[in-house]
Amino acid sequence: MISFPLFLHLTHLSTLVYIFHIKQSEMKKHNFSAGPAILPQEVFAQAASAIRDFEGMGLSILEISHRSKEFTAVMEEAQALVLELANLDADDYAVLFLGGGASSQFFMVPMNLMDEGQSAAYINTGAWATKAIKEAKLFGHVSVVASSEDDAFTYIPKGWSVPTDARYVHITTNNTIRGTQYHALPDTGDAPLVADMSSDIFSRPLDFSRFGLFYAGAQKNLGPAGVTLVVVRKDLVGQVRRQLPTMLNYQTHIDKGSMFNTPPVFPIYTLMLTLRWIKSQGGLTAMEVRNREKATLFYSELDRNPLFRGTAVAEDRSWMNATFVLERPELEQAFLQACEAAGCVGLKGHRSVGGFRASMYNAMELESVQTLVDVMRDFAEKHA
Ligand SMILES: *Cc1c(COP(=O)(O)O)cnc(C)c1O
Repeated sequence: MISFPLFLHLTHLSTLVYIFHIKQSEMKKHNFSAGPAILPQEVFAQAASAIRDFEGMGLSILEISHRSKEFTAVMEEAQALVLELANLDADDYAVLFLGGGASSQFFMVPMNLMDEGQSAAYINTGAWATKAIKEAKLFGHVSVVASSEDDAFTYIPKGWSVPTDARYVHITTNNTIRGTQYHALPDTGDAPLVADMSSDIFSRPLDFSRFGLFYAGAQKNLGPAGVTLVVVRKDLVGQVRRQLPTMLNYQTHIDKGSMFNTPPVFPIYTLMLTLRWIKSQGGLTAMEVRNREKATLFYSELDRNPLFRGTAVAEDRSWMNATFVLERPELEQAFLQACEAAGCVGLKGHRSVGGFRASMYNAMELESVQTLVDVMRDFAEKHA
């Protein structure tokens, strides 16, 4: 039989364990994950509430028709916000929300924009660009006009020129794995730019009218995994003679307002909430200010701290994904533990390159970057 004092002791202990668990799960997490990634807290809250009851319908957003007036309004608002943020006109550009990830755009782009016997120019700045090039070769002639593969994709090649017969020029505006980013758009003359913007979409103002097409998997800067944003200049579509499967033809989705089949309803809703958030913060100009501030804070510490070294060339460093290594690799585990203890998670570099990567997408607060910088500073002092 349990004596009274021991019983008291046990309940006391379980209370302590309980409190400790709450403390653990309530400790603020700073999510530096490269993707799926952080979104604004208010977007999480609104999305969660729509799962229980969408717009007071007494129904979850997960169970309503994609053709209901409530979801149609979401789709229209999402499309309008994309055009508004990009400062593009609905007469010229179509906004599509497709399945298949950014990876499916690697083949849909050449399939729709380059006929057999025609050619397109690609810039190879890393693993994602390499995959896009591989797929494009299935549909026409691909000329890789510049590549930074010679130096482990640590820089953005510049000063290249576009072959006159290129139907389009494909770039990857931000290289998620190696941590490089175009800080100025290349001049491609008359050839339309096509860009994989998966990891820096809407992180800064750009002249979006320079693009014939841009696409982004939502899970880095816009929403949950499951939807890919494609914005395409309508006059570029429908120019190839090859037979296209209905679902892989941009024209199908343009004609049906991205509702040819059931679109990814919940990811589109969440993405729309993120676009509203971007707009409420002051649009892309405000995103640029915010992202510049975070990147400056992080990179100044990186350059000052003797224990760490950045892996990308300084002028091409990404504001979204900062890649770095420890000068003493034997300390890697200890550093990750120190990060974890401060609530900083998702910092392990991509499995193909190792080291560390701090992803600082739009939704990340300056305070989170400050927390990481403090950990790096303390860690270097401890291991000096
Ligand atoms: C993550 C990523 C992709 C792949 O996106 P999926 O939606 O997983 O296919 C492609 N390009 C870039 C630049 C990325 O960061």
